[in-house]
Amino acid sequence: MRQIAIYGKGGIGKSTTTQNLTAALATMGNKILLVGCDPKADSTRMLLGGLNQKTVLDTLRSEGDEGVHLETVVQPGFGNIKCVESGGPEPGVGCAGRGIITSIGLLENLGAYTDDLDYVFYDVLGDVVCGGFAMPIREGKAKEIYIVASGELMAIYAANNICKGLSKFAKGGARLGGIICNSRNVDGERELLEAFAKKLGSQLIHFVPRDNIVQRAEINRKTVIDFDPESNQAKEYLTLANNVQNNTKLVVPTPLPMEELEAMMVEFGIVEL
Ligand code: ATP
Ligand code: MG
Repeated sequence: MRQIAIYGKGGIGKSTTTQNLTAALATMGNKILLVGCDPKADSTRMLLGGLNQKTVLDTLRSEGDEGVHLETVVQPGFGNIKCVESGGPEPGVGCAGRGIITSIGLLENLGAYTDDLDYVFYDVLGDVVCGGFAMPIREGKAKEIYIVASGELMAIYAANNICKGLSKFAKGGARLGGIICNSRNVDGERELLEAFAKKLGSQLIHFVPRDNIVQRAEINRKTVIDFDPESNQAKEYLTLANNVQNNTKLVVPTPLPMEELEAMMVEFGIVEL
């Protein structure tokens, strides 16, 4: 069982990419559990046809410890992907990070991590700076991490910060599998991200183009894989899935100093000094 966590700057496309990636892996015959680790609980929506999944933490609050059963919090979605949303604390009270710790612990106790699974994916909000959101990679739960980024400075800056956090958890076995570029159509984007990934000691695992079919699929509450499996974009997600499936390059990343990051942005003509 490979346990994989997806990180990246807010709004970069983690949930979209994760759902399309898992959908593609499922069509390749893999058994998958997807755990949404975001209080927004929107990590599994397109796999479930828009169904508003009851979250683990909501169920815990309404039913109590004894009232949480796998059948209520794990829903089968596209390709029989097992979908879970951990949910969040009541707004304004409690820590979302701690909620994830509670939620994953509960899933373990309930036996959600069955031996027949090929993959467990975690779609994680925010960066690893807060302890709770680092939960999936702490103590080697998810050993394989992919970071979604683009050619925009803030996306690269966030990816670099995540690598800083990641190197702190290296002892537990956490490794970077690669950078996924979710394109924002920035000039020289592919070259920039290839260079960035290389400097981290890692690789660009795939360049996912920006395509409005993602929006059309989304409005139909589907992944692109489900909505239009013959489309170019579906093929891109299938390639990403193949690259992840065959990936053996797992490294402890070497984050860059800020000056080097900026110099790289200048070198590739993204920004001028
Ligand atoms: P958050 O940090 O809020 O959880 P996120 O990183 O999960 O955000 P998404 O919700 O997946 O980001 O994506 C944000 C929006 O970007 C989505 O509404 C989606 O339609 C769009 N999007 C993502 N990837 C692509 C793409 N390759 N082409 C076109 N649109 C995309
Ligand atoms: Mg998301």
